[in-house]
Amino acid sequence: MTCPSCSKSLQKLETRGIEVDACSGGCGGIWFDQRELDAFDSAQEAADAGALIGLRIQAPPPAPSTEPRPCPKCVKYKMQKRFSCIKRAVEIDSCPGCGGIWLDPGELIRIQALWKTDADRARGVEEFFTNDIMPQFQAERERLQRENVVAKIERAIGFVRISKFFK
Ligand SMILES: [Zn+2]
Ligand SMILES: [Zn+2]
Repeated sequence: MTCPSCSKSLQKLETRGIEVDACSGGCGGIWFDQRELDAFDSAQEAADAGALIGLRIQAPPPAPSTEPRPCPKCVKYKMQKRFSCIKRAVEIDSCPGCGGIWLDPGELIRIQALWKTDADRARGVEEFFTNDIMPQFQAERERLQRENVVAKIERAIGFVRISKFFK
């Protein structure tokens, strides 16, 4: 796979039994297949991701681009910007085709700082949906489920499985 940012070859890097693809010879960006980031995205998991954060950056980071970059895996799809979680603090690149995530250098550390543990995040998401989102959909719950809108929204949001709120 080719780095979507600096075009160097991505290298396999194993941490905690999970293989990610990292631009270890270039800009230091990291590619996570769908849901792989879940294992490294809280403060508690930061130590486990040490090898990822310690990636040596051997090329100057490319200037931030507003142009959508290609998914390193699907290639034909362009990645889209979205927030990493409900806190809307860190914008990441995500592929609408495969659900993978590209993190530029520094983004992993910022994401890990947002939640202490996965349980904290899960609680935060639960509260957010219960209090802020679901009341707006209450009346339409059945129609949305029937017309398969829930699955579409879920793919677009990426970081939360909203289908469980529609059960
Ligand atoms: Zn790179
Ligand atoms: Zn993709």
